[in-house]
Amino acid sequence: MRIPLVAGNWKLNGTRASIKELVEGLQSGISAIKKTQVAVCPPYVYLNEVGQMLADGPGPIAMGSQDVSAEDSGAFTGEVAGTMIREMGCAYAIVGHSERRSIYGESDELTARKFAAARRHGLKPILCVGETLQEREQNITEKVVARQIDAVIDLEGIDAFKDAVIAYEPVWAIGTGMTATPEQAQEVHAFIRGRIAAEDQSVADGLQILYGGSVKGNNAEELFAKPDIDGGLIGGASLAAGEFLTICQAAD
Ligand code: PEP
Repeated sequence: MRIPLVAGNWKLNGTRASIKELVEGLQSGISAIKKTQVAVCPPYVYLNEVGQMLADGPGPIAMGSQDVSAEDSGAFTGEVAGTMIREMGCAYAIVGHSERRSIYGESDELTARKFAAARRHGLKPILCVGETLQEREQNITEKVVARQIDAVIDLEGIDAFKDAVIAYEPVWAIGTGMTATPEQAQEVHAFIRGRIAAEDQSVADGLQILYGGSVKGNNAEELFAKPDIDGGLIGGASLAAGEFLTICQAAD
């Protein structure tokens, strides 16, 4: 039996004041969430402050970073290392978000190296995979997702997924209001689990596979009801405490 996970990806949003308000809002409702693991991924500069608030207030609410450097230290201006992220109190690191892949040109290979860096420093990677609309229309969704996962298996081996999460995020559904239907999402989730199972059945059975792409309070329940959907990676709807908690409740 897999425990659901709902993680909020705040992206490049917030101010000190708005983030404090958001965390307080989440903390005021978190006691109603009974079994679902809840995490938030603030921008790097707020990790320290959010980490303190989460450690000192009602919970449990875990914290993750939105990215991580593939490098550990040295002359890499602008990068943030896994050691630093861990030191701020993070448990998770998102890697391979489609915005990193498409806007910043991050390859499958770099994403796999970031996945490895996260694990090296005790962070659980949340590996994002997913196809563009064009790729879906070309009927190559499975090929694309398999390639993105295989890059990690090639570098790290299948055992790496014992301590990792996969988020299936169809690119055409992210921030567009166009959610995949529960059936469309389930189909790809089952494919992903099957791909992992082909290497190791017990790793596949224990792997949390999240859905991401315009999840809201009013569509979360039907998505999370599907057998291979173990929660969500939430963008826009994670910026309002009430809406995010409704999604967590749906996973519960
Ligand atoms: C995301 O960016 O990971 C995401 C799923 O965004 P949204 O929920 O806004 O579509």
